[in-house]
Amino acid sequence: MLTNSSFNAFRNTVSRSDENSTTIPSSERETVFLNALKDELVKIGLSNVRIHPVNSYLIAELPSNLDHDVPVLGLISHVDTADFNSVDIKPKIVENYDGKSIIKLDKEGKITLDPKVFPSLTKYAGQTLITTSGDTLLGSDDKSGVSEIVTTMEYLLDHPEIKHGKIVIGLGPDEEIGTGADKFDVKDFGADFAYTVDGGPVGQLEYETFSAAGLKVHITGKDVHPGSAKGIMINALTVANDFQNDLPSDEVPEKTEGREGFFHLLSLNGTVDAAEMSYIIRDFKRDGLEARKDKIKQIVQELNQKYGEGTVSIDMNDQYYNMYEVMKDHMDVVKIAEQAMKNLNIEPDEAAVRGGTDGSKISFMGLPTPNLFAGGENMHGRYEYVSEEAMEQAVNVILEIIKLNNDRQK
Ligand SMILES: [Zn+2]
Repeated sequence: MLTNSSFNAFRNTVSRSDENSTTIPSSERETVFLNALKDELVKIGLSNVRIHPVNSYLIAELPSNLDHDVPVLGLISHVDTADFNSVDIKPKIVENYDGKSIIKLDKEGKITLDPKVFPSLTKYAGQTLITTSGDTLLGSDDKSGVSEIVTTMEYLLDHPEIKHGKIVIGLGPDEEIGTGADKFDVKDFGADFAYTVDGGPVGQLEYETFSAAGLKVHITGKDVHPGSAKGIMINALTVANDFQNDLPSDEVPEKTEGREGFFHLLSLNGTVDAAEMSYIIRDFKRDGLEARKDKIKQIVQELNQKYGEGTVSIDMNDQYYNMYEVMKDHMDVVKIAEQAMKNLNIEPDEAAVRGGTDGSKISFMGLPTPNLFAGGENMHGRYEYVSEEAMEQAVNVILEIIKLNNDRQK
């Protein structure tokens, strides 16, 4: 059922975002891709196709063909790809995969998809896989979501006998660098409920995410000649070491899972004279996040007592919050997606996301937005793959949500 035009999203379209940029979109490549996609949405017959002047979301509408009002559905995905080579992506098709064989990705066969290394492959026996050629990512995250949303719209336009309410779609930039939804315009978008189509394997339905903060630690040392340093020198690197050692050593990404939070040291740069550390802080509970921030403040205070006032200073900012704080009052939006999956014999997989989604921010802006599966596996690298059947199931789930929505009251 995937159309040629939507499958083309994977080909020859570099749209990697750039975390060192401050423009929106962060890269010119994304603008080129969004403009090409805009022409396609006009061509297939969607209405009010436009790129939002501030947030650069490509927005389009499919008007209702019902004779009564139902809630307006929003469908959201992101066009940028992750921080990995995305130049000259050459997707490979493996038809009727047997679920056992090792798939050679590059010409020499040095880079492979081996079911012993990636047991998820066994789930795809009998299906058609789309893989990389070994030297790039695939971009399934989230061009699968883009393709699935566009394919759904095209299907509805080709089948006017299928009844549906008004649908708005938003295909945005810069999710992978964490800024894409910062300026999302809920009022302009005009949806009453929405889903990001940006999850992993079939069945994923996510409405709980981390609550997140970012931390920069600035340390000012006192550099004097080491031969006469006793009682005078403050080595900024020693202070940095103390700072890290004062944090609970078990609460790091490599030792936590499920609903456990962490402090994660991302970088440490410095000399005796000065040092800078960068952390991310994550917790599923808001008061848990606050407790972690309090712990940081306490360490700063203690180190300044030990080494002298002004030795350590910090910048700490909240980044996003667990969307469940919003979703708990809008569980009907989760229930309709659950029901849609069950109607299609798909078992909903509702694990909490150890990360954030664009929907975490958009939900807090007033539009409840859980995350639906887009079907991809091994995201963000050369082992990324997606099956055509998984993508079709994503389209079918969206169509089923649209059908179920016809009986809901606006
Ligand atoms: Zn994504």
